[in-house]
Amino acid sequence: MTRRLSRERRRAAFLEKAGQMYDEMENWYDRHERASFGEIEREAREQRRELMGETLGILINGRDTGQQALAPRCDQCGQEMSFEGYRRWEVHGLEGDTELERAYYVCPKCRGETLFPPG
Ligand SMILES: [Zn+2]
Repeated sequence: MTRRLSRERRRAAFLEKAGQMYDEMENWYDRHERASFGEIEREAREQRRELMGETLGILINGRDTGQQALAPRCDQCGQEMSFEGYRRWEVHGLEGDTELERAYYVCPKCRGETLFPPG
């Protein structure tokens, strides 16, 4: 999964994925030499969905996952919260499925007090 990346590295990650999609289309066409335009288009649509899902993941997660250099303080008691890793969830979008992730913090003192920093 993507961690915070510079804009240039997000672009490079996208181009890498786009290149992979194109290679997959070439390989698919090699295996289906007699495919009609409609069949090629159908395959491309499938692969585009996958690429768009991954692209949005790079765009969103690569920009900011909410993790902070200094731990945030608990709203209830003011104590420093501890970073508990990343929570992931899948969004089924119009253009593709994307796995999003956010940093997850928990207050060690107030049980159950959790925070997903906005971003
Ligand atoms: Zn607390």
